[in-house]
Amino acid sequence: MPTFRFRVLFVDDEPAVRTTGAAVLEAAGYEVLTAADGMEGLHALDDAQPDLIISDLRMPNMSGFEFLAVVRTRFPQIPTIALSGEYVTDNIPDGLLADTFFQKGDYSIPDLLNKVKELVRKAPERPVQGKRNTSRIWIALNGSGQVIVTCPKCLRSFDVDPSQLKEEGIHKISCPSCANEFSSNIDHFSMPQFFGAGEGASSRPRKAIAGRRSGRGQRLS
Ligand SMILES: [Zn+2]
Repeated sequence: MPTFRFRVLFVDDEPAVRTTGAAVLEAAGYEVLTAADGMEGLHALDDAQPDLIISDLRMPNMSGFEFLAVVRTRFPQIPTIALSGEYVTDNIPDGLLADTFFQKGDYSIPDLLNKVKELVRKAPERPVQGKRNTSRIWIALNGSGQVIVTCPKCLRSFDVDPSQLKEEGIHKISCPSCANEFSSNIDHFSMPQFFGAGEGASSRPRKAIAGRRSGRGQRLS
């Protein structure tokens, strides 16, 4: 008779740590997915949502700090455990969004498994956001004329050439960081100085924006 198994995503850039971690969790009855860094972890979350995530902190491409922050925002219902090789004196390092923190080499396997068991059975209650693959655009007020978008998958921000956003409405944008294709809604009316509608590019975006803020009361999303 098949039994239900909780699924754990184990993220660590060291192959030996991944192999050991996966073996320990599998022996304890969990189904285990592994990823080599935060970005790979995010891709894994596209396919199947785990019941718990265990992540290293220091990793290339996307650190555990960034990955766990993205997880907390996009998948707040998934409990998380951070593992770190660095020595920290606090229980949970500053800025780390995880339910629990274990210092590598300073905990026992039974301690970790007990925590995993506790967290998957009593997933923290946090509000879940919608899953729309769309993003707001953000206007940089430093006079650069930059239009910034935030990828709804990896939550990294990058600037988009305003001349590519000539058409008003929905635009398909590809994230240079994680390759996610998402859409963003461009409202030209409120930002004519960026999109060339009306007065064209202004040399003083900050003033122009301040003067127009009450315009039509619409948000750029
Ligand atoms: Zn992205």
